Amino acid sequence: MRWSTMHIPTLRDDPAEAGAPSHRLLLRAGYIRQLMAGHYSLLPLAVRVRLKVIGIIREELNRIGAQEILMPVMHPAELWQLSGRWQLMGDEMFRLKDRKGAQLALGMTHEEIVTSLAAELNSYRDLPQMWYQFQTKLRDEPRPKAGLMRTREFTMKDSYSFDLDIAGLDKSFDAHHAAYSRAFTRIGIPAIPVEASNGSMGGSGSTEFICPSPTGEDDIVYSPECGYAANMEAAVSALAPVDPATDAARSLDEPQRFDTPGVRTIEDLATGYDAPADRQVKTLVYVLDGRLTLVLLRGDHALEEQKLIDATRAVAVRPAEAGEIFAELGAHPGSLGAVGVTTLPVIADLALRGRSGMTTGANTDDVHLRGVDVDRDIEVSEWADLRAAEAGEPCARCGNPLTVLKGIEVGHIFKLGYKYTDAFEITVSGPDGKPVKPAMGCYGIGVERAMAACIEVHHDEKGIVWPAAIAPFEAVVIVAQQNDAAVAEAGERAYQALLDAGVDVIIDDRSDRAGVKFSDAELVGIPFRITIGKRGLATNTAELTERATGETVSVPLDDLAKHVR
Ligand code: ATP
Ligand code: MG
Ligand code: MG
Ligand code: MG
Repeated sequence: MRWSTMHIPTLRDDPAEAGAPSHRLLLRAGYIRQLMAGHYSLLPLAVRVRLKVIGIIREELNRIGAQEILMPVMHPAELWQLSGRWQLMGDEMFRLKDRKGAQLALGMTHEEIVTSLAAELNSYRDLPQMWYQFQTKLRDEPRPKAGLMRTREFTMKDSYSFDLDIAGLDKSFDAHHAAYSRAFTRIGIPAIPVEASNGSMGGSGSTEFICPSPTGEDDIVYSPECGYAANMEAAVSALAPVDPATDAARSLDEPQRFDTPGVRTIEDLATGYDAPADRQVKTLVYVLDGRLTLVLLRGDHALEEQKLIDATRAVAVRPAEAGEIFAELGAHPGSLGAVGVTTLPVIADLALRGRSGMTTGANTDDVHLRGVDVDRDIEVSEWADLRAAEAGEPCARCGNPLTVLKGIEVGHIFKLGYKYTDAFEITVSGPDGKPVKPAMGCYGIGVERAMAACIEVHHDEKGIVWPAAIAPFEAVVIVAQQNDAAVAEAGERAYQALLDAGVDVIIDDRSDRAGVKFSDAELVGIPFRITIGKRGLATNTAELTERATGETVSVPLDDLAKHVR
C-alpha cells in the first residue's frame, strides 16, 4: 500500500467533540467519521484493524471447534414474541414494518434466531454444537458514547452453544472463557474476567471481560491476589426517572419513562417476573438532591393487562430517616412481601452514596426476592465487597486488599440454560430415546469496542500505539526525501523486499517533509518505522524506530525484514 494513494485523512488538531482518547485518536488519525450519533463509517485504516481483530477471534473460536455461520440482521417479530423479549427489550430494539405490514426487528442479539436453527438438531449425537458469527447488531442506545465504544450499530462476534446437559454447557462455557482470554491477550487487551449477572439474556451465570480503563462505564471490585473480580454495574448504572421529583409522586395515568437501558416504562418493570401480577411489589430507590426517594409500586388487577403496575407511594426522606422507612417496610411483609427486608437496605446504601438503583421483589407463596438494577441482580455479597473496598477492608474470601476499578466491557459470556430451548420447545432424542432439551450458552465480543478499548490502553501523547497483531500495518517505510531519485528508489526496494518477506507494510511516498510523515506514522500508530534517507543511504542503512519505545537503531538495508518481526 502507498500512503500517497490511500485515504488517510489525518487532522492537525484534536476534534472538539471527542473526550475519550480512542474517540479523539480514531477521528484525528483518519480511522473513522461520524454519520450521525452512534453510527460511524470505518475508513481504510480502521477496516484493516477490524479485519485483524476478527481474524484473531475467528482463529481462537475455530480452535475450540466452533463453526462460523451468518444469520440475518432483520428478524420477524414472532420469534421475539415467542421468547417474551419483544416486550422486554423495550426502546433499545429498532422495529419496523415491511410493505405487507409484517412487524420486524433489527437484531440486537441473536438467541431467538439461532434457537430456531437448533430445531433441526435431532439426536443427542448431534450435540454439542457451537455456532458463531460476525454480524452487525443494532441497538437504540439511549446514550451513544465515545466514538466506537458505544454505538447504535456495531459488529458483534456472537456464539451460541447447545449441549445435552448442564455439564456439557459448563464445558462449552469454559472453552469460550479460554478462547476469549487468548483472543484478548493477542489483541492486546488486558481483560479481567469478572463475575456478572445475566440481565435480559436470562439464565444462570455469566462472566464479563473487563478492560481496566478510566473511560470505562463499569465498576469492578477486584482482588488480583484472590483471583476475584465482580461487576458493580448494578450499583452504578443509575436508574434515573426523567424527573423524579414530579413523576414519581404522580400516579401513573400514562406510562412513565425511565432513562435507563432495558427499562423504558413502568410496564417493562412488570415483565419477566413470575409472581401473579397483583402480588408483585416493586420499589425504586434513588437519590435526588441528597434526599433518598423511595417509590413503591404495587400490582393492581383492576388495571388492564399492559398497565399492571401503579405507583402507590413516593417518599422523599433524608438519609437519616431511611432506617425508619426500611423498618416500616420490613414490618409489613403482607403488603410489601420480602422487598426491603434484605435487598432494599443494600440498594439504599448504594443510592445514598450516589449510586442509584432499583430493587424488585415478587411476593409469591414461596417468597422470591431479588434486587435488580435494570440489567441485573445485585448480589448482596458484591455490595459487601464494594463497601469493604471503599472502607479499605480486605476481601472476605482471602483477606487480601480489594480495589474498585473502572473498566470497559469488551466481552460477555452467559450460561443461558433452558430459557430459549424451553420457549422454542427444542428437543433432541436422548441415548434412551426419550426427548432431551439442550442446554444453551451465548457469548459476545464487541469488535469495534475492542478496537477502541485497545487504543485506550495503548496510546501516548503522539497518537495510537497499536500492538503489532492488530495494527493496520506492521511497518511503514518512510522515504525522507521523495524528490531525491536515489532515496526514492532505495525506499521502493526496501518496500518490495519487506512485502516479499510477508511483512504487512506501507510506503510513505508522499512528497511531504519527513517531519510530517513521522508525525502521521506516530499518530496512526504503526509499530515499526523504517526511514530511508540520504545520510543512511551512504552506508547502505536505514533507521528502524519502534513506535512503542521510540528506540531507533541503524539496520543494513538488505536486512530489514528480520528486524521488524
Ligand atoms: P453494555 O453494558 O456496555 O451496554 P451489554 O452488556 O449491553 O453492553 P452484551 O449484550 O453483553 O452488551 O453484548 C456483548 C458485547 O457487545 C459487549 O460485551 C460489548 O463488547 C459489545 N457491545 C454491546 N453494546 C455495544 C454498543 N452499543 N457498542 C459497541 N459494542 C457494544
Ligand atoms: Mg447494553
Ligand atoms: Mg453490560
Ligand atoms: Mg453484557
